[in-house]
Amino acid sequence: MSRSAHPAGPRHGDVLPEGHFTAPPADLNALDPRVWAQTVERAGGGAVAVGGLDVRALAEEFGTPAYVLDEADFRARCRAWRDAFGRDADVFYAGKAFLSRAVVRWLHEEGLNLDVCSGGELATALAAGMPPERIALHGNNKSTEEIARAVEAGVGRIVLDSFQEIARVAHVARGLGRRQPVQIRVTVGVEAHTHEFIATAHEDQKFGLALAGGQAAEAVRRVLGLESLELTGIHSHIGSQIFDMAGFEVSARRVVGLLTEVRDEHGVELPEIDLGGGLGIAYTPEDDPREPHEIAKALGDIVTRECEAAGLAVPRLSVEPGRAIVGPTAFTLYEVGTLKELEGLRTYVSVDGGMSDNIRTALYDAEYTVALVSRSSEAEPMLSRVVGKHCESGDIVVRDAFLPADLAPGDLLAVPATGAYCRSMASNYNHALRPPVVAVRDGQAREIVRRETEEDLLRLDVG
Ligand SMILES: *Cc1c(COP(=O)(O)O)cnc(C)c1O
Repeated sequence: MSRSAHPAGPRHGDVLPEGHFTAPPADLNALDPRVWAQTVERAGGGAVAVGGLDVRALAEEFGTPAYVLDEADFRARCRAWRDAFGRDADVFYAGKAFLSRAVVRWLHEEGLNLDVCSGGELATALAAGMPPERIALHGNNKSTEEIARAVEAGVGRIVLDSFQEIARVAHVARGLGRRQPVQIRVTVGVEAHTHEFIATAHEDQKFGLALAGGQAAEAVRRVLGLESLELTGIHSHIGSQIFDMAGFEVSARRVVGLLTEVRDEHGVELPEIDLGGGLGIAYTPEDDPREPHEIAKALGDIVTRECEAAGLAVPRLSVEPGRAIVGPTAFTLYEVGTLKELEGLRTYVSVDGGMSDNIRTALYDAEYTVALVSRSSEAEPMLSRVVGKHCESGDIVVRDAFLPADLAPGDLLAVPATGAYCRSMASNYNHALRPPVVAVRDGQAREIVRRETEEDLLRLDVG
């Protein structure tokens, strides 16, 4: 697969051999803490529990497929990020990874800020009471209505992405009699993947204004000339599912380079820099992500060093983790429907969801693991492929997995690390009803997003 697959995070960015899989794990019943949410455990009797609740009871109450989210884990990750970055930095959760009103309230309570990138995400944030000054609006083609709603609400930051948008936001803010704080999103020519980065990537992408060739500097000049805009800083976001901090090192150096240029040319020291999100998580036990405190230290050191070298006051730093907060906190619970053994090849295990609830495998060749969770098993490992129920042969949830050979219809499977970019990218393909998100905490479970119904589908179909 090509680099275009990278947000899926195939582990090594480039080519996975066809039929790639690792050896069977020593113990099929083991739940590796690297890929499972914090409170997940195999309880007495062999069934898995999360937040103190047996998955069989959750399946009974909420049906399958369902995303099951460990609220304690979500909150703990928020706190870990907030504490790691401390008072001199801001953590913005990237709402596109997964957003709901409950999530907004958790973020608010745990002291995080929120990135939104559409009117719908902004509406969700405001509906759940996120203070507007803690919201940042992103996007490469924000509509005038989206901009107006954001300015009117008083969002703390709009991240400008094009020359047209500079004029548009300035116009809207002027019309509303506001001075809108903005950052400029720049492309620094770094392309970061899981374990490697390219420092001289061609800036051939839709986001941001290029540092190379002076677009970004021109954008700064224009924004500084507009009364209704207050330029607070420079923004850069270099990729996703990144483990290697070297890409951030280069991007921070180049962003600080621009700040230096701005000071020398305009006599202005911009007070903020945002280095974006994209921090990786473990989808399989082979993935080894950095902890928030290591990331905070690395980014803080880089920015401080570069600013000292340039004689600049150290700006206020912000980061925007999405996947790294919500990704590990949820798993998708499925029921096995059919099994098809292809002699000498593998067994196809069909579950009651698929590409409509997890498009990442089909879209990016993402890797996942899977476990039998309604019971334990001492049966031999069976090379399997977990597939969905959609009319599409690419409808694969887990390409290569070992499951116990006594797997049978009615068993429950769980695919961990599906908190990010699964429900938020879910579709109604084949008129599938999108699964609920069930939050569990201290022995209590509740739907924070309910399951779609046929009435929901038909309500949009106006005949
Ligand atoms: C997608 C995105 C993020 C979050 O990315 P993750 O990989 O979920 O951390 C942060 N900032 C911007 C601008 C983004 O587009």
